[in-house]
Amino acid sequence: MPPGYRRITEMVLVPARSTARLAVMSEKTIALVTGANKGIGYEIAAGLGALGWSVGVGARDEQRGTQAVAKLRAAGADAFAVPLDVTRDESVTAAARLIEERAGRLDVLVNNAGVAGGGPEAPASIDLEAVRRLVETNVIGVIRVTNAMLPLLRRSAHPRIVNQSSHVGSLALQTTPGVDLGGISGAYAPTKTYLNAVTIQYAKELGDTGILINSVCPGYVATDLNDFHGTRTAEQGAAIAIRLATVPDDGPTGQLFDDNGVVPW
Ligand code: NAP
Repeated sequence: MPPGYRRITEMVLVPARSTARLAVMSEKTIALVTGANKGIGYEIAAGLGALGWSVGVGARDEQRGTQAVAKLRAAGADAFAVPLDVTRDESVTAAARLIEERAGRLDVLVNNAGVAGGGPEAPASIDLEAVRRLVETNVIGVIRVTNAMLPLLRRSAHPRIVNQSSHVGSLALQTTPGVDLGGISGAYAPTKTYLNAVTIQYAKELGDTGILINSVCPGYVATDLNDFHGTRTAEQGAAIAIRLATVPDDGPTGQLFDDNGVVPW
């Protein structure tokens, strides 16, 4: 026994445990991005792939998912398809199983999938079905996916969750005179406020687990979501999610960020 050490128990097999830990640490970081077949999600997957990570490309439509994976792989990324409709329990359960069988754990979850209204959103006359559809995808979908993936995230050495929010979800910005957040939004904007509130509650619950969870605002990005009226590229919009996906262990949790830093709730 080396000088300065004392035997604690005959059952401590230090060399074997050290080897196992080294083997785990040398594995690639495993990420899942929901709604990654196009738009900002696709660019987040591309950015994480460029870091050398293995990236699950979540897509509710199998063909769109396969096409996105082919494009990412052609660009050199280690991407794999994850059929995933965030509004369906069976789909989300199957996605968790797929990742467990492939990697045994998940390091980074980016809850990016989302939908917008596609119609007038004045609350006094809003279509309740549209409200339900948005809440089902933008809020409940995130909770459903997060909870299905948490057992896999708990096996990670550096687990991170990033929720794709928006400036329009910030009550502080919504109530600051002179801040232009577009038109009245009785459904889409409140779903992002709800998502932010859920992010805070997860951060509280997961505070001592090492899982860091934050919301991000990509800015006004030209995608299908807004008929390409946005002023930023999807690549620019993806940058903040990538930044929060890669924060160190002493990084922030339970906060809202854009490219300029912390955004008030
Ligand atoms: P997008 O191009 O329309 O992409 C949305 C993605 O979400 C698509 O892959 C879509 O899949 C997927 N999706 C929708 N419903 C889904 C479901 N039930 N299950 C799984 N995937 C689903 O829009 P985007 O602008 O990139 O939006 C990405 C995220 O950024 C959204 O959460 C959005 O709210 C947020 N955001 C966008 C902006 C902006 O200016 N664009 C600003 C702030 C926040 P399909 O192709 O099958 O429809």
